[in-house]
Amino acid sequence: MRYVSTRSDKYSVSASEAILAGIAPDGGLFVPESFPRPDFESWQDYTYQEVAVNLLSLFLTDFSPEAIRQLVGKSYSSNFDSPQITPIHWLDEQTGVLEMWHGPTLAFKDLALQCLPQLFEEAKKIQAIRERFLILTATSGDTGKAAMSGFSGKKDALVAVFYPHGGISPFQERQMLSNTSPNVRAFAVEGNFDDCQRSVKALMQEENFRERMLRQSIRLTSANSINVGRLIAQMVYYIYAYLQSCEKYGDPISFVVPSGNVGNILAARYCREMGLPVDRIHLAVNSNKVLHDFLSTGIYDANRELLQTTSPSMDILVASNMERYLYLLTGDDSYIRDLMAALKRDGCFSFDAKLFDLGSSWVTEEQVLACIEKVYTDYGYLLDPHSAVAAHALFNSEMSGRRLVVSTASPYKFAKTVLTALGQDLPPDDRGQILKLKQLIGADLPQAIEELWSLQPQKRQCLVPEEMEAAIDQLIGANYEKD
Ligand SMILES: *Cc1c(COP(=O)(O)O)cnc(C)c1O
Repeated sequence: MRYVSTRSDKYSVSASEAILAGIAPDGGLFVPESFPRPDFESWQDYTYQEVAVNLLSLFLTDFSPEAIRQLVGKSYSSNFDSPQITPIHWLDEQTGVLEMWHGPTLAFKDLALQCLPQLFEEAKKIQAIRERFLILTATSGDTGKAAMSGFSGKKDALVAVFYPHGGISPFQERQMLSNTSPNVRAFAVEGNFDDCQRSVKALMQEENFRERMLRQSIRLTSANSINVGRLIAQMVYYIYAYLQSCEKYGDPISFVVPSGNVGNILAARYCREMGLPVDRIHLAVNSNKVLHDFLSTGIYDANRELLQTTSPSMDILVASNMERYLYLLTGDDSYIRDLMAALKRDGCFSFDAKLFDLGSSWVTEEQVLACIEKVYTDYGYLLDPHSAVAAHALFNSEMSGRRLVVSTASPYKFAKTVLTALGQDLPPDDRGQILKLKQLIGADLPQAIEELWSLQPQKRQCLVPEEMEAAIDQLIGANYEKD
């Protein structure tokens, strides 16, 4: 299997090269040049790990079968607190919740980021690359900790995460400051998430910085969902969920996906491209509804204010993986290059809406809270606000047959919003809020929370953007000085 860029036909690389590069040299994203159509029906009795091994083998054709088996074993085992990795909770006969938050950071990013470091290590071996990697990531909360958790203790990788000071929840900050491995660090940066992201991108594109790193045998890369390795790992749960949900193979199953950067929903769309009999794939967004507007009109317009919502991991105006979806629909790299140039220049572009094959809707903040309350009252089940965006979209759609809400975060991660939705009094700190939620759920706390509370968080290190480079030097010094 080769990987090509969405923006030109100049690059065709192997899986290991695509994973190590992250982004293509022309600024495009790597995509598989074709989609195999395996006999999914014969996968029906597979465990999550067996589905993963079989799927990865189709896409990572320069990895050895033994390496794939080993890396899948390391990525999906007791680091998840469910043997099914992504279990389904059925609300009724037809409606299920695909729980993707049983990993160490309680959000769905773990499904890709527990695996990406192993993919990296193996890809380095295949390409005989000796340099270390420095992974720079701006985060609005979930990606940062998931990357830190995945790369924690890896000798040849450093992770520097930057988050907006005051812009993430106390729980998320505590998660990022409570780590025991010196190769991963999180820093607060003055400004909002957009400022933070801009500073990280600027640093990554700075020639001087890049060269200074290379002189120390360090390559720069990112853990964001532009990496094709993440997407492939994310296809596994849709296949597994489909096989778990159908009564007989071929039954139509629909998915409703709470979306931000469009990586998660694209993985579902890729599965349908491979012949998995998925019925509808529905994109649900919060009041930052640029993606819904695009899918309903064909006009992508990022020239609008970014609103702060209770589902912050979906607060986004420019969704990187939309580029891959448009490439899937057209296969036309020069057209995509023009569209992306227009987006960069004008903040908008238009596309033929008749080509779209995803449903979409948007959900107000009031509807999110009402949905959390309704699902608790009707089914005794608690949703986090991101999952509630999808659940509201599902309950208000005409989807027939079995359908799954893709649930991307544990309610514990957003305890304050959940308690507010239920009209409960709010204990003053996040610990009190989590304990109160535990009473309502009536089950043990996830182990990840117990562990978090047993650690003493580091002191917050707060930077202005000009100090980011010095903070990175400090991280390098603390890890590699002694060699
Ligand atoms: C990242 C994230 C999303 C959005 O997923 P995309 O792949 O960016 O569309 C939704 N919910 C949660 C909790 C997330 O962390």
